[in-house]
Amino acid sequence: MLTIAVSKGRIYEEALPLLAEAGIMPVDDPKKCRKLILRTTRDDVQLVIIRATDVPTFVEYGAADMGIAGKDVLLEHGAESLYEPLDLKIACCKLMTAAHKDAPSHRGRIRVATKYVKTAQRYFAGQGIQAEIIKLYGSMELAPLVGLADCIVDLVDTGNTLKANDLEPRELIMNISSRLVVNKAAMKMKNQAIASVLDQFEQTLAKR
Ligand code: AMP
Repeated sequence: MLTIAVSKGRIYEEALPLLAEAGIMPVDDPKKCRKLILRTTRDDVQLVIIRATDVPTFVEYGAADMGIAGKDVLLEHGAESLYEPLDLKIACCKLMTAAHKDAPSHRGRIRVATKYVKTAQRYFAGQGIQAEIIKLYGSMELAPLVGLADCIVDLVDTGNTLKANDLEPRELIMNISSRLVVNKAAMKMKNQAIASVLDQFEQTLAKR
């Protein structure tokens, strides 16, 4: 049995057509049933649909053989213990700094609100900017509006969320897309099954 962990939400929705091309279609709709392990149209493949931040953990410990997660989550997790053989080019967006549209660009020490603590620390250190990072779990956009932080680090797609909150994107930290990750032991032990899924994904991506 091959277990694939997929990030809930947008990544899952965008991964469905790719999985379908590899003959992997969930038998149940995770929105309608409460099952945590989804059987698929392939008897030898099952899916677990979980929080994005949990995907690298499941794959690292071998609870899932493969996973589909955003590069943002992999960077923050520090996914050196995983193979990352494929950029699936889905759920594309940008990891950016953003600040209030009237705020001056940062001078001196700044406060940054984000859920990407390690990534933000690395980024500001690389820029030679002294940054105090405040960990938040959601609604980062609120932080500059209520004086909690000078700026945020978050994912930006259309920019509408920032705009709706009088914020604007500032510096690009990284272009983000979802990646296929593989457990290192599984890559050896289940090589044939994993190689065939990888191959099918690659063929589908080549056609796009
Ligand atoms: P937008 O308003 O289109 O710029 O989207 C920004 C909001 O959607 C922010 O709350 C982001 O955290 C979230 N977001 C954007 N792209 C992604 C993605 N690829 N994966 C997960 N969340 C995303």
